[in-house]
Amino acid sequence: MPNTKYVFVTGGVSSSLGKGIVAASLAKLLQAQGYKITIQKLDPYINIDPGTLNPYEHGECFVTDDGAETDLDLGHYERFLNVSTSQANNVTTGRIYQSVIDKERRGEFLGKTVQVIPHITNEIKERVQIFGKTGEYDIVITEIGGTVGDIESLPYVEAVRQMKWEMGPENVLVIHLTLIPYLAAARELKTKPTQHSVKTLMESGVQADVLVCRTEHDLSEKIRIKLARFCNVSQEAVIQSIDASTIYDVPNLMLNEGLDKVVLKKLGFQWHEPQLDQWNDFLDRHKNPLNTIKIGLIGKYVELQDSYKSILEAFIHAGAVNSTRVEVECIHSETLASKNIESLLSHLHGVVVAPGFGERGIEGKIEAVKFVRENKIPFFGICLGMQMAVIEFARNVLYLTDANSTEMDENTPHPVISLMESQKRIVDKGGTMRLGAWDCDIQQGTLAFETYGKTSIKERHRHRYEFNDQYRKLINDAGMIASGTNPETGLVEIIELKDHPWFVGVQYHPEYKSTVANPHPLFVNFIKAALHYALVKKNTKVLN
Ligand code: GLN
Repeated sequence: MPNTKYVFVTGGVSSSLGKGIVAASLAKLLQAQGYKITIQKLDPYINIDPGTLNPYEHGECFVTDDGAETDLDLGHYERFLNVSTSQANNVTTGRIYQSVIDKERRGEFLGKTVQVIPHITNEIKERVQIFGKTGEYDIVITEIGGTVGDIESLPYVEAVRQMKWEMGPENVLVIHLTLIPYLAAARELKTKPTQHSVKTLMESGVQADVLVCRTEHDLSEKIRIKLARFCNVSQEAVIQSIDASTIYDVPNLMLNEGLDKVVLKKLGFQWHEPQLDQWNDFLDRHKNPLNTIKIGLIGKYVELQDSYKSILEAFIHAGAVNSTRVEVECIHSETLASKNIESLLSHLHGVVVAPGFGERGIEGKIEAVKFVRENKIPFFGICLGMQMAVIEFARNVLYLTDANSTEMDENTPHPVISLMESQKRIVDKGGTMRLGAWDCDIQQGTLAFETYGKTSIKERHRHRYEFNDQYRKLINDAGMIASGTNPETGLVEIIELKDHPWFVGVQYHPEYKSTVANPHPLFVNFIKAALHYALVKKNTKVLN
């Protein structure tokens, strides 16, 4: 069994410094040297998982194969490393407490007083070491959410202190990510907030081993020496993390700064030249596109980039495959109506209707589907987006006036989308949707088959409503076919239009499975269709 070593990534001074990206970039560099790596995120909030959190609070909820609703940082880990994460890769304070309290109820603490130290900290250490115990990994990278000094973070920092003490500094390493602000008036980068942040960590008994300093300007030699001296770290362990034009540049930036080298050295591992050919090839295509297309993303959280994180990243992967720059125009569904639809959508080369919940903005989404269906603009509906496509088709092609989903209108005369049978008796909201990876059989001779190139796939889900089978024949006969279905339940997973160049709706979330190494075929093919549409449109204009 290899001796698994642990790297913790903590944050200080400010939130949103990109801890997740730094952790994923380090993991990428180590993976590219042949090390077996996994990443984990510990979130200090009390919700059991982010599944019940509003996107305004928390951004996208990422879903794993095993059906965990997790922090969006797991999406970065998967996209960078091309490995699947699971329930164990994201743990919240709520889950830690729930499990300690369950143990207490079962009498497992044998009459002892249950306390933060040792019971909560033991539970945290156990969750971190789950991966080490499998013997599968050389290094486990654990990112601790929030910033040091927060009340919520204290038990986590204490668990790190204990692990460092118990396992020794050669087996446990702490990377502290901080901000070096630039004061324009003084024309100076300031180190004091970092000094204070490192000091706060030390008050809890933890000495940072490596400093990753987020900055808008290059750190001079003088500043690096100062940071090393005041923060008790070696000078090679002061790593600059300068603002990058894309998150996919960060692994190379960290490589140039030697983050991987210093981590491996401190943990007693050998450094090798990382194999980043495939990664750099992707970067090259991403940065040097031959064409540009415009895709409309219609949703109701469009002002928040994080709400559709995985979709936006999947476009980047698919754009690189097609050597195309994908400009995404986020359009708020509540602003769309039949009178303005043409002016808002006609310049686009493809439209995605985003996933979502609840009634707000759905009529705008239905209008958008109508416009792209009639004008033969490539359309891609994801989860709620697929349901909107079915409703639009029922209303405007089959003339089933007021057709709807029972999520939006319980008394609709035509419930073409309805609550899944398995959901009918569920009252709890947390973790009770149809979640995680489910099988889907694809019908040959369809666009879905052409896209995937196989008849059997597995995709990740997060929904309660489904295509109502009672309307399947009617809808199918009118030209919207169910090209993918679940083999056990018959649930419709993919719909497409026969009489349209590219019109696909999926009940699942393909965006969760798109990675740099494995761009999702649906996104790749959709971008290809949009590019084709753009080129034909341009040529027609020239001819006219
Ligand atoms: N609200 C819809 C459902 O629950 C769609 C969910 C989604 O888009 N993720 O079925």
